[in-house]
Amino acid sequence: MSRFFSSRYAALTPYVPGEQPRDRKYIKLNTNESPYAPPRPVADAAGDASAECRLYSDPESTELREALAARYGLSTEQVIVGNGSDEILNFSFMAFGDETHPLLFPDITYGFYPVFAKLNRIPYREIPLEEDFTIDLRRYEGHEGVVVIANPNAPTGISLPVPAIEALLKTLTKGILIVDEAYVDFGGESAVPLIESYDNLLVVQTFSKSRSMAGARLGFGMGSPELIRDLKTIQYSTNPYNVNRMTADAGKTALAYGDYYDACCAKIRKTREMTAEGLKKLGFRVLPSCANFLFAESDRIAGEELYLRLKEKGILIRHFTIPRIANFNRITIGLPDDMKTFLAKTEECLEEIK
Ligand SMILES: *Cc1c(COP(=O)(O)O)cnc(C)c1O
Repeated sequence: MSRFFSSRYAALTPYVPGEQPRDRKYIKLNTNESPYAPPRPVADAAGDASAECRLYSDPESTELREALAARYGLSTEQVIVGNGSDEILNFSFMAFGDETHPLLFPDITYGFYPVFAKLNRIPYREIPLEEDFTIDLRRYEGHEGVVVIANPNAPTGISLPVPAIEALLKTLTKGILIVDEAYVDFGGESAVPLIESYDNLLVVQTFSKSRSMAGARLGFGMGSPELIRDLKTIQYSTNPYNVNRMTADAGKTALAYGDYYDACCAKIRKTREMTAEGLKKLGFRVLPSCANFLFAESDRIAGEELYLRLKEKGILIRHFTIPRIANFNRITIGLPDDMKTFLAKTEECLEEIK
């Protein structure tokens, strides 16, 4: 740290992104990217737009927001787009959280929530997941601040039914609920239909996972026009041109390929079940996942040990240091052949330490 770094941030522990090593070619099962490329016209749209990059992008991202609104049955005023859903999450924490409106989220969830909370100096409380790693939403009822739930949750992959979300919303008469649906397209149930009836609901989604566009950085928030206006106040106070024109056009084009992406998600679900079966045969406990990853543990090998041994063999997965999940690994679902290799190499690891 330089001697100039503001004392306001000196104690920050930044988010640690999954590693993207360049030393060799890995089978990358560590950052929940899609193994399938976007349709060719998506990349072409980005290329075409780059010819115009002399000009600023549309700060309203009007065409993209119109396309999203049409896709989700909303009005354009109910949609905001951002530089990844991480940005939308940061905007919403800034907009709705403060000393008297603390954040409430599970102890085991997306690692960025506590980072954004600290960055913006918003107090937060973590509620432990249940014994079976599910979220009991009754423990969030009546909160007078911001409840943040990832559904499906990460890194567990476990999903909540929408009626449970609605029951919680009814109790938040002075609070707001942010549902982070980064993985919803892989088998979760979306809360978007509740937006019309609940002005205290913000749903956040991303193009990074199910739409194969992690590197384009595009996320979006959906909620009442009033909530979206608040978020735009933050957008225009930090980074008005937050979505560049290449990404905006690529995103708009991607929305025209719903069938293609549905087919990709179906393949990933099928590969997920194949992988889960394989892991169970090797003696792993596998949590029921509705996402594009599995969360699994074995009493035959520690999470960190499996991570390290697989890395040696050219496969990257995630492990965690939070004590309660230290024995787990999170494994992104890749191509079927990659998952077969993963299972074979995992079996090798178990043999090696016998
Ligand atoms: C990947 C992820 C995001 C953020 O993705 P962006 O790439 O910033 O859109 C948000 N929430 C969860 C739970 C995620 O796993």
